[in-house]
Amino acid sequence: MSAPKLKAPRGTFDVLGEQASVRAALEASARAILESAGYERIETPAFEATELFARGVGESTDIVRKEMFTFTDEAGRSLTLRPEGTAPVCRAYVEHGMHKRRQPVKLWYLSSFFRHERAQAGRYRQFWQVGAEALGSDDPALDAESIALLVELLQEVGVTGARLRLSSLGSAETRGEYRELLKAHLRANEGSLSEDVRSRIDLNPLRAFDSDHEATKRVMEGAPRLLEHLNDDDAEHFAQVRGLLDVADIAYEVDPTLVRGLDYYARTVFELTSDALGAQSGVGGGGRYDGLVEQLGGPPTPGVGWAAGVERMMLAGELQPAAITAVELFVAFEEPGSRRIAFGILAEARSAGLRARMELGGRSLKGQLGYANALGARYVAIVEAEATVLRDMEGGGQERIATDTVIHAVLRGLRTL
Ligand code: AMP
Repeated sequence: MSAPKLKAPRGTFDVLGEQASVRAALEASARAILESAGYERIETPAFEATELFARGVGESTDIVRKEMFTFTDEAGRSLTLRPEGTAPVCRAYVEHGMHKRRQPVKLWYLSSFFRHERAQAGRYRQFWQVGAEALGSDDPALDAESIALLVELLQEVGVTGARLRLSSLGSAETRGEYRELLKAHLRANEGSLSEDVRSRIDLNPLRAFDSDHEATKRVMEGAPRLLEHLNDDDAEHFAQVRGLLDVADIAYEVDPTLVRGLDYYARTVFELTSDALGAQSGVGGGGRYDGLVEQLGGPPTPGVGWAAGVERMMLAGELQPAAITAVELFVAFEEPGSRRIAFGILAEARSAGLRARMELGGRSLKGQLGYANALGARYVAIVEAEATVLRDMEGGGQERIATDTVIHAVLRGLRTL
C-alpha cells in the first residue's frame, strides 16, 4: 500500500520554474528602484508577538479580528504569523534605536505574509509583498516620493490600466470628531445597514465605506465626508501632496470614500488598482501612519509607506522570465570507471567560469547525448579511459584530445564564436 499524497495547504502555492524566474525579475526591479531612492533592505521575522498587530494594526480591523494565524509557544506567549509589514518595521525601528539615525530612515522589504482569508484567484493565505516604509519625517514630499516609487514599480513591471486613488484621513483628533458624525449618520439609517456594518458602528464606523452591501452603499452615498472636515494643517498637507504629484506628472483621483483596512493610517492614504485584475483589483496601497511608532512604545515619529502584492503584480503585469542560460559544456561518460575523471573535468570547468553540467542520472551514452542536446549544450566531452572526445554540438565536428586539455579547448572554442 502506498502512502497517501500530501498537498500544499489551501490558499498556498509552490513557486517553481518560470514563476520563480519572473519573481526574481520583479525583485530586481523593486531593488533597483527603491535602493536608488535610498531605501535599505530590511527583513523582519515571519512571526511576532500577537500584541504587535493587536496594538499596531488595531483590534477592530478585519485582519486582527478574523484573519491572523495565531499560536502559543511553550511558555504560553501568543505569537502570530505576520499579516502585514508596517507594524513589524516600526517595531524594528524602535528596537534598533533608528530614531537616532539621520531621518527619514527608508526601509524596503520583500517578504511573505499570512492572512486567513477565503482563498480565490489573487487572494491567498500566504502571499508576498514588496513594501517601502519611510520613517522620521512628515514632509509632504516624502508622501509624494513614496507614491511615485510605487507608480514607477508598477510601470516597470508592466502593470497596465493602473488607477491611483488618493485621500486624506486627517489627524487622530479630526478622525475622532468625524467618527461621531459618521456614527450618528449610521445610527439614523441603522435599518438599512448590513449585519456586519451594524455590528461595528461603534468599533469601526469608517469601514462602512468598504461595504459591498447595496443598501449600505446607498446609506454611505449620503454620509458626511472626512475630507470636508480636515483641520487647516491636514488640509494644507494634503494640498501639498497633490501639488507635488502634479509636479511629477502622476495622475490620481481624489476619492473621499477611500478607507484602508488598517487602523494606523492618518493623513495621506492611497490605493492602486488595475483593470487587468478581476474582483481582487488592488495591486498596492499605503499611507501615512504618524502615530504608529509611538503606539508601539517609541518616540513620536511620523512615517509613510506602502505595500504591493507580488502575485497581483505578476497577474496584472507582463514581466518575462529571465532567459534560460545555456549550458556551455556537458561532461558525458560511458564506463562507470570514468566517473571520477568526468567529475574532475566538471570541477575544473566550474573553476574556469564555464556553465557546466555532467551526467548524474545513469543514462546510456545515447541518452546522455540526447539530454545534452535538450539542455542546449554547446560542447559535449565524452570521457574515455585514455582520452576524451570533444564534440561541438553547434558546428557538428568532433575531435579526440588529451583529457587534460578539454577545458582549454572549450574556452578557445567559445572565444572564437
Ligand atoms: P494591504 O496590506 O491589505 O493594503 O494589501 C496590500 C496589497 O497586498 C494589496 O493591494 C494586494 O496586492 C496584496 N494582498 C493583500 N492581501 C492579499 C492576499 N490575501 N493575497 C494576495 N495578495 C494580497
